[in-house]
Amino acid sequence: MADSAAPRKTLMAIVSLVSKQLRIDVCSVYLISPATGNLVLRASAGLKKESIDTIYMSAHEGLTGLVIEKTEPIFVKNPADHPRYKYFKESGEERFQTYLGVPLQYHRRNFGAIVFQSIDPAAISEKDIPFFTVIAGQIASLAAYRGLMENPENKRDKKAADNQTPVVETPVPTQTRDSKNILRGVPASPGIAEGIVHYLPGSVGFDQVRIERADDPKKEISRFESALKKNMSEIKELSDGLDELPLHDVAIFESHLMMLIDPSFKNQVIGHIQKGAAAEYALKKTIEHHIQRFLTIDDPYLKERSKDVEDLGKQILSKLLGETSPQSTKFQSDTILIATDISAKDLISFKQKRLKGLALSRGGRTSHAAILAKAFEIPMVIGLSDILDTVHEGDRLILDGNSGLVFRNPSDDIVNEYKGLISEKKKLLRQLKHLRDKESVTLDGHMLSLEANIGLLSDTRQAIQYGAKHIGLYRTEFPFIIRNAFPSEDEQVEIYEKILQGAEGRSVTIRTLDLGGDKFLSYFDAGKEENPYLGWRSIRVSLDREDIFRTQLRAILRVSANHPVKLLFPMLCSIKEARNIARILEEEKKDLSDQKIPFNTSIPVGIMVEVPSAVKILKHLLEIFDFVSIGSNDLIQYLLAVDRNNPKVAPLYNPLHPAVIMSIRDVVTDCNAAGKPVSLCGEAAGNPKCAYLFLGMGIDALSMTPSSIPLIKKMVLKVNRREAEEDLSRVLAMSDEDEIDLFLEERLKNYI
Ligand code: PEP
Ligand code: MG
Repeated sequence: MADSAAPRKTLMAIVSLVSKQLRIDVCSVYLISPATGNLVLRASAGLKKESIDTIYMSAHEGLTGLVIEKTEPIFVKNPADHPRYKYFKESGEERFQTYLGVPLQYHRRNFGAIVFQSIDPAAISEKDIPFFTVIAGQIASLAAYRGLMENPENKRDKKAADNQTPVVETPVPTQTRDSKNILRGVPASPGIAEGIVHYLPGSVGFDQVRIERADDPKKEISRFESALKKNMSEIKELSDGLDELPLHDVAIFESHLMMLIDPSFKNQVIGHIQKGAAAEYALKKTIEHHIQRFLTIDDPYLKERSKDVEDLGKQILSKLLGETSPQSTKFQSDTILIATDISAKDLISFKQKRLKGLALSRGGRTSHAAILAKAFEIPMVIGLSDILDTVHEGDRLILDGNSGLVFRNPSDDIVNEYKGLISEKKKLLRQLKHLRDKESVTLDGHMLSLEANIGLLSDTRQAIQYGAKHIGLYRTEFPFIIRNAFPSEDEQVEIYEKILQGAEGRSVTIRTLDLGGDKFLSYFDAGKEENPYLGWRSIRVSLDREDIFRTQLRAILRVSANHPVKLLFPMLCSIKEARNIARILEEEKKDLSDQKIPFNTSIPVGIMVEVPSAVKILKHLLEIFDFVSIGSNDLIQYLLAVDRNNPKVAPLYNPLHPAVIMSIRDVVTDCNAAGKPVSLCGEAAGNPKCAYLFLGMGIDALSMTPSSIPLIKKMVLKVNRREAEEDLSRVLAMSDEDEIDLFLEERLKNYI
């Protein structure tokens, strides 16, 4: 049964085992086909072999349809006499005197039924139902955890994935849909891509440099100099071509250029050549020497720089060896690039119209490459640990950067399904364009401000394009991540100024650094932690490293002198932290005043509520701060004890869990009572069902990925705030997230 790579075999093994062990004449599994919604006989011990895959019926037909409809076990004696009995002559089932059907459910969603039949009328009786129900439950969860239920095709599920809502899977156990062809990774840049696989060409390593000596030093020097020159102009060309990206995003290349123009580096290589070394070998010696020097330094930041040196060395080496640069690689068809990891430089080099997607076996959600992929709007999935073994050059892939699923050589059904989704989305965006400048007001006149989450300067362009009223969250980590060292106060002022200019008069809520968890800096050693999300992260780091914190606060305050800036602190847990923050902020304000440096003395200061403890002590926190922004991404993970980036527990990460809804409702109620503005800036803001509930709670604003704004606006324009409030009360009385989901699905079906 563990052989999940062959789901059909596994299902057959299950039914044979059950019928044999329980001495039942027939044990069959019917599954709901996601493509058609019909019930299909997928495995059977006891029915004729040829009936497998050929018996189809509507989920409203037959006794098995009744099981699905009623979502409960059905036991019938003499089934042929039952009004819902449907006879299939290919099954040979006319002989059986009993019928027991039990629904197969995963997370309370039906995905089929298991049916037991017997010739002996006494072999199964009503009192056996609990026993068979237990068996059905075992099979259902086994199927779920063994990957038998990969369901790329369920439209409803994929729509949910698009909204970054966890996906509940239903089964598609056919050969073409086995788990080898469906890879599950972590979404790193949204969107859907289709293309042919191309492996990132491996760069040549110094271990391949064998020839040590050369006879003609002059020729070697000239070869080296021309390689150096080529590399330098390539880097310059790359960074010059990036005018769509803010200058600070390109700072990655500065260290490379600095080294290339450093005369001591060049002279060292030439020195080796003059002593008789071949250019490649001289370069190898010099690079090794530099790497060694960096490695012996007892500073994590400088140690990390040895990678830059090696990277640069490899670039020059490839020029010496006459390797073609990635820039000269022109894709002939739509391409998905596969690699273990990809550097920002390589991504920029390969960027072209036909580069449609990126699939990495490793990679980080906040790596340089992920940041750039988002800025370039190239879908990317990371953490695909099996991809290098399973996917080959020339394969066709569909890559879903929203859900993290990658399909290898997908069937026509999957391709069509995705094509449908892509064109649906395009159509929606076209339709929604006219919404851009419309106010987001409900039918009964309630205004809900729809705002954008950004991380890069280029995101401000998207925010405006999609009609964001303000920038509700600017994550400041990104400019820190793509640099090689902490930016100074002046550099930060420059970065934030640009963002504010890019926002074209909209207010920008700047969040102080939220490091740790899944956001790391190569030059800041936070140490390895067993449980990074419960460890040294976010405001805890800021309060322990006041130097870094104070520099950032000063920079933000300075920018507030001329722009509508709000200041936001992440991940507060206690009143002590709140008081500390307030004290430090006052000290910095005073210092700036003393130095006559202008800033907005009444800059709005808010906190993110993203830890359950903050929900509980909010009334006290509100005495200190001006506004609240709910970080639902973290709040859900801490409330439900589910790692937000772990695909294994993704189905448990549910924004519609009653505990989540109740906690958010409590925060909104407390803020409204205190007269303090409250918004929500996690992914849930872009999920229409959640947004409808937040509207009902009386939230003031929702801040989301810019591309989600039109969909939410469309919904807001069609609903009444009063009704949303009433529906919220109904939802608050429900205890089951699936019930809530279905209720909202029904409620909003005409609006989204
Ligand atoms: C959140 O936790 O909801 C949030 C917006 O912050 P981040 O995703 O950056 O942790
Ligand atoms: Mg957070």
